[in-house]
Amino acid sequence: EKTASQQAIDLENKYGAHNYHPLPVVLERGEGVYVWDVEGKKYYDFLSAYSAVNQGHCHPKIVGAMTEQAQRLTLTSRAFYNDMLGKYEKFACEFFNFDKLLPMNTGAEAVETALKICRKWAYEKKGIDENEAEIVVCENNFHGRTTTIISFSNDPVARKNFGPYTKGFIKIEYDNIGELEKHLESNKNIAGFLVEPIQGEAGVYVPSEGYLSKAKALCEKHNVLFIADEVQTGIARTGKLLAVDHENVKPDLLILGKALSGGAYPVSAVLANDSVMGVIKPGNHGSTFGGNPVAAAVAIAALSVVRNEKLAENAEKLGKLFRSELDKYIQKSKIASLVRGKGLLNAILINDSEDSDTAWNICLKLRDNGLLAKPTHGNIIRFAPPLVMNEEQLMDCVSIIIDTLKEFE
Ligand code: PMP
Repeated sequence: EKTASQQAIDLENKYGAHNYHPLPVVLERGEGVYVWDVEGKKYYDFLSAYSAVNQGHCHPKIVGAMTEQAQRLTLTSRAFYNDMLGKYEKFACEFFNFDKLLPMNTGAEAVETALKICRKWAYEKKGIDENEAEIVVCENNFHGRTTTIISFSNDPVARKNFGPYTKGFIKIEYDNIGELEKHLESNKNIAGFLVEPIQGEAGVYVPSEGYLSKAKALCEKHNVLFIADEVQTGIARTGKLLAVDHENVKPDLLILGKALSGGAYPVSAVLANDSVMGVIKPGNHGSTFGGNPVAAAVAIAALSVVRNEKLAENAEKLGKLFRSELDKYIQKSKIASLVRGKGLLNAILINDSEDSDTAWNICLKLRDNGLLAKPTHGNIIRFAPPLVMNEEQLMDCVSIIIDTLKEFE
């Protein structure tokens, strides 16, 4: 007789396209920092759905707002106005200090949206010749899975056999201000610079201090839009509301997703001031679900929780504790060599090759020991728990992680 977990996995394997390689654990319930599998085993969630569930699983304020709205009105499309969207747009614009918000559903859609706005701005406001605009992006980026976005990925698995690729992107080294400057000084067709303030999928790669503020200054000097993809780093994850806040940078285009809904619903957005967002006119862009009233209600609730529960401050405090505790162990560890990150977006480096299965095996053992995390590479494990965690829970998790790593020494 198969376990309930095995039955669920078999069903997915038989009927689902094999576009993911999930850790073998089947979840059926979540609350705060915990999730439970179908056998009733309890785990700490240390991934938060790639940093979407920052406010914790099934937060009562978010679920309450969602169910209340779902019983009243779920979708009108943008063919008509709905009574929630404007309230949400006002709330979010004031929250993040921008003039305008364009609502979408997923991170990749919001990235696509920002790229379109940037190109249109370049032709109408900067005077670049039609079809000549170029956008600078960074090596090892992750911005999503659409055909345009994978055109400037350098992950071979994400790209190979999905061509032809979209033109108009220049890839430069991340965290290399000189290379950005060189391109901006020599190429009049550059319209924007798209950057993750910390590269999440690349293995939680934190750029040097000052990189983002210098990049922003260069963009200003050359009249180029600074486009921050904060889908993973935003909404308190790194210890500030936005990761660019660590360097007091205000992006021209801000891309949000994931935790904008606390993981309760697909909600993403692009924010900008009038001078940039003003290029978008009726018919230029849209989505049937973007800006629906449930999304609007959920996002207001999710942002309110971030503010009311001081999640940025908690992430800042617990992140420091996490890194210092793990650092003490790593100093004398044979299996791990480094912990890096900001706030509660962190990763450890395992002493093995990038294509080994060591990090995967450690994550299987972490699962057995009651903590769910996922490798970004064969030798990197990302740690991103919900930001509603308390100190006692964090120290419990630190013990689980260290004890598990010791099993691999
Ligand atoms: N941008 C960044 C920085 C991301 O981390 C992700 C998701 N990991 C995306 C965009 C894409 O978001 P989605 O999966 O919702 O399309």
